[in-house]
Amino acid sequence: MNDRQRINEVLGLLMLQNNLLIQAGEACCTSCATHECTRDGLASGCEGYAYYHMQDAEAFDEQGTLRDVIHIGFGSLLNKEVGDDDVLIGHLVADRMRAAGFEVEWNGTYRERIGVRPRQ
Ligand SMILES: [Zn+2]
Repeated sequence: MNDRQRINEVLGLLMLQNNLLIQAGEACCTSCATHECTRDGLASGCEGYAYYHMQDAEAFDEQGTLRDVIHIGFGSLLNKEVGDDDVLIGHLVADRMRAAGFEVEWNGTYRERIGVRPRQ
């Protein structure tokens, strides 16, 4: 399994087990991804969302190997105000990425997306 498949698998499990809406390389930018994830996630009763967009996906090479840090966006759909609910989703994503063997760089706030580093 390559890095892209592994990251997509982590996101897929978050969708199945944690009721998150997932986008993997579909939207063009952060703004569109956030908009689409919020719209589609609320429409399907999801608790939150996580994504990387097309520009983020350039961190993968053609073989699906992660060559650069990829940033995973996230958010909660339970509360209109940004805050603790969002951070909980962030920790969920960060913990699962670590469990899958990736090193994570993230300041633990909703203001920063989660950086997933290439494996050594
Ligand atoms: Zn866009």
